[in-house]
Amino acid sequence: MVVTRFAPSPTGYLHIGGLRTALYSYLWAKKNNGKFLLRIEDTDLKRNSKEAADAIEEAFKWVGLKQDGDIYYQSDRMDIYKSYIQKLLDEDKAYYCYMSKDELDELRATQMKNKQRPRYDGRYRNFTGSIPDVKPVVRIKTPVNEIIKFDDGIKGMISVNTDEVMDDFIIARSDGSPTYNFVVAIDDHEMGVTEVIRGDDHLSNTPKQIIVYRALGFDLPKFYHVPMILNPNGKKLSKRDGAMDVMEYKKEGYLPEALLNFLVRLGWSHKDQEIFSFKEMLELFNPKDINKSASAYNAEKLLWLNSHFIKNSSYERLIKELKFFDLNLESIEKKEILIDALRERAKTLKEFAEKSRLILDEPQDYNQKAVKKFLKAEAIGIAKDFLNYLTVYKEDLNNSNDYEIFISKFLEEKNLKLKDIAQIIRISIVGSAVSPSIYDIMAIVGQNELIKRIKKLIKFMEV
Ligand code: GLU
Repeated sequence: MVVTRFAPSPTGYLHIGGLRTALYSYLWAKKNNGKFLLRIEDTDLKRNSKEAADAIEEAFKWVGLKQDGDIYYQSDRMDIYKSYIQKLLDEDKAYYCYMSKDELDELRATQMKNKQRPRYDGRYRNFTGSIPDVKPVVRIKTPVNEIIKFDDGIKGMISVNTDEVMDDFIIARSDGSPTYNFVVAIDDHEMGVTEVIRGDDHLSNTPKQIIVYRALGFDLPKFYHVPMILNPNGKKLSKRDGAMDVMEYKKEGYLPEALLNFLVRLGWSHKDQEIFSFKEMLELFNPKDINKSASAYNAEKLLWLNSHFIKNSSYERLIKELKFFDLNLESIEKKEILIDALRERAKTLKEFAEKSRLILDEPQDYNQKAVKKFLKAEAIGIAKDFLNYLTVYKEDLNNSNDYEIFISKFLEEKNLKLKDIAQIIRISIVGSAVSPSIYDIMAIVGQNELIKRIKKLIKFMEV
């Protein structure tokens, strides 16, 4: 069975790089009817683990990912790690090292002076005694001059010589707490993880983890080290570029399916397909197709995907999502006309809500430029004629089409052109010269409200 995992350190929130590796791991497990685990790596940072797990759960819930089984916390698993440390000590594969910090600093300084790479020199490797009043660390016996080789699913064959990249690294600190690379290896084995999909910033940790696997006789999982997401200038992604909390994307008005689609394509592709439903992602995703090079964050593309998903969402869905932006369309009679008019124009739900409010709420003031440009001296007369015509109009005014007929009759009777009235109507309804079609916005506010707004604009023009 395929078992994958997402193993965040508790930084307090889930960022998009994390969500991308979580998504890849999730898709691959589910595609293979396997399991996707969530493990909070909180051995160093105990303080935030609950909050961090809550933040991850919240983000997972929003995008529709869910781990199998309970969340694992490394801080709950100390006994397991300790027993493995003891096992390695008993088998003489690890040892106590009593070197003091001063000694270590001195060794480093000498190595640096001699232009050698700083590394522990193994001086306690064969020491069997103990030193009173010194709390030792535990170091693993890294094989000398051995090649560690693994076939990374993305990077290809990786091979390093232990002498070049590793010393006898610490697996337990002097207070007995286990170190990062040790616990990752123990957990991945204990949890039956078969494929490790993670950021390539962890590539240099993998040989160390393999040393632990080997010392304990564990089978290796398959590793996939995913290249980073960079900004469009090829630099590390900053908060400003989009390296923010996944939940910020919700606040900015992105649909989760747009974000997932964006992330799945950021580093993976299937032919030249850009738009993927969740079902398609599940069917098509394979970590072997993950790109070898880093991918660039493209804010325009995310917006494009988001507008695609907004355009294709049902009325019910959009009404539900817009509530998050304090917009309740349920009681609005012409909500369908509003939604259809705006789904073509709004790239985010936030923008959708703002644009909706412009139509639904009576304008508090009028855009000065629009007033200057479109409300010339003759506008008052035209607006008054329009108001009279509208007030006595007896035909149906229910939808955009009815308003189109109404306007053409009005124009014919008064011998006017559409451009003579269009901006007057627009400014009266939304306060500026920018809006969806005037027929749509008239239909949305309805006859009585339109009368009210035209009257208000006439009053404004008269002062
Ligand atoms: N805890 C690590 C991180 O948050 C990930 C470790 C792993 O996936 O092996 O970067």
